[in-house]
Amino acid sequence: MCKSSRASVSAVVVDGKMIGRNVLDNVEKRARKLLENGVEAHLAVVIVGEDPASHVYVRNKERACEKCGILSTRIGMPGDSSQEEILGIVEDLNADKKIHGILVQSPAPAGVDELAIASSILPSKDVDGFHPANLGKLVQGDNSGLLPCTPTGVMHILESSQFELEGKRALVIGRSRIVGMPMALMLAQKGADATVTIAHSKTADMEEICMEADIIISAIGRPHIIGPDSVKPGSFVVDVGISRMDDGSLAGDVHPSVEEIAGWITPVPGGVGPMTIAMLMRNTIRAAESLNN
Ligand code: NAP
Repeated sequence: MCKSSRASVSAVVVDGKMIGRNVLDNVEKRARKLLENGVEAHLAVVIVGEDPASHVYVRNKERACEKCGILSTRIGMPGDSSQEEILGIVEDLNADKKIHGILVQSPAPAGVDELAIASSILPSKDVDGFHPANLGKLVQGDNSGLLPCTPTGVMHILESSQFELEGKRALVIGRSRIVGMPMALMLAQKGADATVTIAHSKTADMEEICMEADIIISAIGRPHIIGPDSVKPGSFVVDVGISRMDDGSLAGDVHPSVEEIAGWITPVPGGVGPMTIAMLMRNTIRAAESLNN
């Protein structure tokens, strides 16, 4: 096990709320401009069932819409809705010219294939950026599609912190379709130019791999699993993970003591979370602008 030897120096704690607010201000201006041209940007959010956490996420997205001057419509469906019923709603929203962005809040109920739902949304309205056409463009190094919000938010945090990625060793922990894999692609893209390693639950020698990374993006979902002995002094640690603790508080993947070792760290809450919502708003305004050009 590698131990860090650096004397205790506190990392810069990245203010995701502040960076996100700047993005929302820009979206608000663009929404106003669209409105002057007679177009009200409009996001439709489909939520199936009564999962309390999902309802909180949806409410937060609606609040962001209010802040930006984007109209939002919530379509609530019973928890026992079938895949066909959800696909039917998406079909109607695809055909509705007044709707610019569509998202179906995850998790989908048991028996419903989330990939089938994501694939049914028109790529031009796919503000979550999960449609295979949008993800496929990303694989080709083409950023012209709507891109997944969490990894884009992380890239925005790195840019805002003026962290130079070129030639750096980046470690993405997690290989999900919605966070880890697109994150790794964005970091490795031409222009970003990091050298990327993807780790997951079967990765051996995790601590050694972590210690070699100039930047760690952790998207696991296990509270405080990344400790100070796994972090290179001065590195940039981005904590995507969110876990709900027994006392109701939220915890990231990264142990708070990592703050004494890293050069930059994103907090949970207040780091990547607000950026994800900000990027959702940015995708929605992009969708509205391009559908009206
Ligand atoms: P996911 O689909 O469950 O993926 C988790 C990944 O972590 C998997 O690839 C898994 O590996 C890997 N993993 C699990 N245990 C591990 C371990 N001990 N060591 C290394 N890797 C391990 O989750 P997700 O949807 O990507 O989300 C990840 C976390 O980010 C969750 O906490 C989620 O709530 C959070 N999240 C936050 C935001 C935000 O806005 N802040 C947005 C989205 C997600 P295998 O592939 O081998 O199973």
